[in-house]
Amino acid sequence: MVCAHHHLYSSLARGMPAPAVTPHSFLSLLENVWWKLDVALDLDTLYWSAALGAAEALCSGTTAIIDHHESPLAIDGSLDVIADACSMIGVKTNLSYGITDRWDGTTLHSKVSPLSPMTDGAARGLRENERFLQSGGRGMVGVHASFTCSDETLDRASSLAESMNTGVHIHVAEGIDDKEAGARLQNRAKDNWLLVHAVHLDRQLAGTIVHNPRSNMNNAVGYANPLRFSNDVALGTDGIGADMLEEARLAYVRLREFDVMQSPDTVWEWLHTAEKFFPDIVNDTVTWSYDKVDSPWHVAFTPGIRCVDVHVDGQLVVKNGSPTQFDMTEIRTKASEAAAKLHKKLALT
Ligand SMILES: [Zn+2]
Repeated sequence: MVCAHHHLYSSLARGMPAPAVTPHSFLSLLENVWWKLDVALDLDTLYWSAALGAAEALCSGTTAIIDHHESPLAIDGSLDVIADACSMIGVKTNLSYGITDRWDGTTLHSKVSPLSPMTDGAARGLRENERFLQSGGRGMVGVHASFTCSDETLDRASSLAESMNTGVHIHVAEGIDDKEAGARLQNRAKDNWLLVHAVHLDRQLAGTIVHNPRSNMNNAVGYANPLRFSNDVALGTDGIGADMLEEARLAYVRLREFDVMQSPDTVWEWLHTAEKFFPDIVNDTVTWSYDKVDSPWHVAFTPGIRCVDVHVDGQLVVKNGSPTQFDMTEIRTKASEAAAKLHKKLALT
């Protein structure tokens, strides 16, 4: 299984202190929760956050993760930290740093004019993508979203991706605040781009759409209805774990709520789309606690199917639900220590 859009930096968000202001909209959620969390990250916290997220993915039968990362005060080397944590766990990755102009020095701008110049923060993020890709890391060029980036930044990201022979991994029209994304990206997007969410996308763009039903419901941004476009569609979690069978079951009922004529076969196709980013995933096998796991019509109506054994590149890495190459208790202990440090910091913001 592949998670086509994850945020491993958010694994320690669970149980974080409630924001001082109760978010009342998608933009307010970003301002009061996620943009406070990402600035509070340092590289040590990030390592254990990524390790925990990767460990939980592997034990759910997900052996490959396409991650989108942001840590505005710990940019340099952050992709190596995630790569190291995931390699220690044994999960394949495709990494990117989500560049943004929303930080102008220490001032946060919730929206950025397309005509403004590229900020130093975005330039540093771009260099981190470039450094990681040039050092041989598997990844894409990350962009947060059009509405927090200038045209210059979008163009620089697009050029870097082209020169590195990869695509751009970008949030597209997740909320109504980014409804201009279609117009901004129309002449920029390419077939190898990952267009994440596309809930309010108003036109066809080149690229693969990543549908994140659980996250979209949690943020009340609306139903993406990815079938209205002819793009390939993949499934992601947007940082809420990486249990892809669970996400597929949810994607199915959300699809049926919208259109009762639909079949789970559609969603099971989405589940496999992102395998094209990991040709080596053919060497991975997962066995499940259910003998009809190859039948979408069975799995869609069978909650609680567990991952039993996982082989990665021929090696048994999960046996009877437990990892063989690392100690899950130790990962949880270290992650919990890092979470305590992070939550203390967040309580002061
Ligand atoms: Zn996301």
